[in-house]
Amino acid sequence: MKLYPTLATVCSMLSIAVFAPAAPSTGSAFYGDAPDAHHPWAVHDQNRPQPKRVEPGTFSTAAQPGKPPSDAIILFDGTAASLAKWESDTKPGTPNQATKWIVRDGALECVPKSGYVRTKEQFADCQLHVEWAAPTAVEGDSQGRGNSGIFLMGIAEVQVLDNYNNPTYADGFAASVYGINPPMANALRAPGEFQVYDIVFRRPVYRNGEVIDAGRVTVFCNGVLMQDATPLEGPGGHMKRSVPIEFPSQGPLKLQDHGNPVRYRNIWYRPLPPRAIEGGTDGVLTAEATTAKRHEIATQLRTDAGTLSGTARMLRFAESLCYENEAATATQVEALADEYIERLKKLSGAALDAKKGEAKSVQRALAYLQKNKILTAPYAPKTQLDALTKAQGWDEVKK
Ligand code: MG
Repeated sequence: MKLYPTLATVCSMLSIAVFAPAAPSTGSAFYGDAPDAHHPWAVHDQNRPQPKRVEPGTFSTAAQPGKPPSDAIILFDGTAASLAKWESDTKPGTPNQATKWIVRDGALECVPKSGYVRTKEQFADCQLHVEWAAPTAVEGDSQGRGNSGIFLMGIAEVQVLDNYNNPTYADGFAASVYGINPPMANALRAPGEFQVYDIVFRRPVYRNGEVIDAGRVTVFCNGVLMQDATPLEGPGGHMKRSVPIEFPSQGPLKLQDHGNPVRYRNIWYRPLPPRAIEGGTDGVLTAEATTAKRHEIATQLRTDAGTLSGTARMLRFAESLCYENEAATATQVEALADEYIERLKKLSGAALDAKKGEAKSVQRALAYLQKNKILTAPYAPKTQLDALTKAQGWDEVKK
């Protein structure tokens, strides 16, 4: 038997209406600093898209692989079936072949001398998660102990090596960008235990043979930062100074066979949004890209304004001017503002007082546009609205 009524039941018994909460604020128009030459959005702009929802995964431990986030693309999940996402790294122009690496105890295990493996899937900029374990039985030293490697786009190697108690040259250490930059620390677990790499990779981007972004790689090992946006000079190479090269638009992820039965598990990635230099909005936009984005936002707002009426229509057209100060729209806003003032002037007493909140919001909008030099001062409708609010005593602060 239910002893305690729910809140809804109590409200119902007492005839209290239960209202849905107000929509949360997602920013404001006519509020933060306006868009400028390299920022298509205002500060705290309500028109800036909301971040997409991703259900978080769980963290891995040495004993247990974690769960990937909801939008991760899985490359290996511990099952024999996911081996089908990999193939042998055959030479260009030769037929594809199934990999000879094996799945054992939920791990993808390198079969020494069977060759590198690569994903069938090709991708580029990404957040990449890889877990690996060197053999429990320690054999060899320096580069000969538990050596493998994660080749981003099949080109740049993030080193996999059992350096638990095993010195080697620093730029070939576990979590080094091989031959280029040592890791900041050695946070490895003992051989046989799984190590967790989290990598953020941005490929080098060229235009007309000139580098416009050198590319960079960030690496965490077991949650400890190893590489902090290390510039990618080019392919990692043994004994050879890396030379910057133009990367293709996509490539496979490759895992190295260096003659040691290194095991991998829980491999997934999340593609990263395109950078501003690639036509996206991640990073600092060029003046041209900013103008194009501002035009896109203004066009959407003007379309939206066309579906509205009254004050909302005027304010939405006014909002579009923050992104693109188009003469025809500015003229339309001024005409709508003039009409608005005329309507207000015809009101008096309680009917006019009822318009206080709305009039103040229009006043704030016009003040914002004037302050940001989107409308030239003195702006007649604002001057009139200022006079009206002053006469009504709406500007006075209550004590
Ligand atoms: Mg290696």
